[in-house]
Amino acid sequence: MNKAFIALGTNIEPRKEYLDQAIQLLSKVEDVQIIKKSSIYQTPPVGYTNQADFLNMVLEISTRLSSEQLLDQCQEIENELGRKRTIRFGPRTIDLDILVFNEENIKTERLTIPHPRMDIRAFVLVPLNELAPELRISGLGKTVKQLLHGLPDQDKKDITKWKMVESEEE
Ligand code: ATP
Ligand code: MG
Ligand code: MG
Repeated sequence: MNKAFIALGTNIEPRKEYLDQAIQLLSKVEDVQIIKKSSIYQTPPVGYTNQADFLNMVLEISTRLSSEQLLDQCQEIENELGRKRTIRFGPRTIDLDILVFNEENIKTERLTIPHPRMDIRAFVLVPLNELAPELRISGLGKTVKQLLHGLPDQDKKDITKWKMVESEEE
């Protein structure tokens, strides 16, 4: 069995619905089991900042799929949920990024693992730290907790646990 962590992100409404649907579709993939889910966090956009806030979370899964097959499944779910790629780092219904796959270091045309920007992203490290603070990120020689601790407070201060408000319930 392979163990992987997947980051989910969405900033187009209905955001919670997109997260739920992505989890549902992933859990239906043959040979994928969802082991743990982090809390959902609301996070300000990074990189391209002229866009709505995100909901982010991380899943731990167990799978017999290879890393490439898992990427195929993630991309299929993105397509199914209407993901369009226009602006790099721009608005999206759902993004599914493979953060970690066992302790492997992978670099192919389609896939880099560990995910190349995960170590500088508070919106990834905060939810991942909830599931696996002691997970050592291969190639970086640091645990999730250490990476998170090393980020500037400025990056972490606006990352808050998300609570559904009435207007978002419909
Ligand atoms: P970022 O990768 O910085 O989070 P993004 O998620 O918005 O940006 P996408 O448009 O979702 O980028 O993906 C661009 C390409 O990244 C995909 O076509 C995919 O082949 C590649 N990719 C490389 N490594 C990974 C990974 N670990 N998980 C998901 N996609 C990956
Ligand atoms: Mg991404
Ligand atoms: Mg992506």
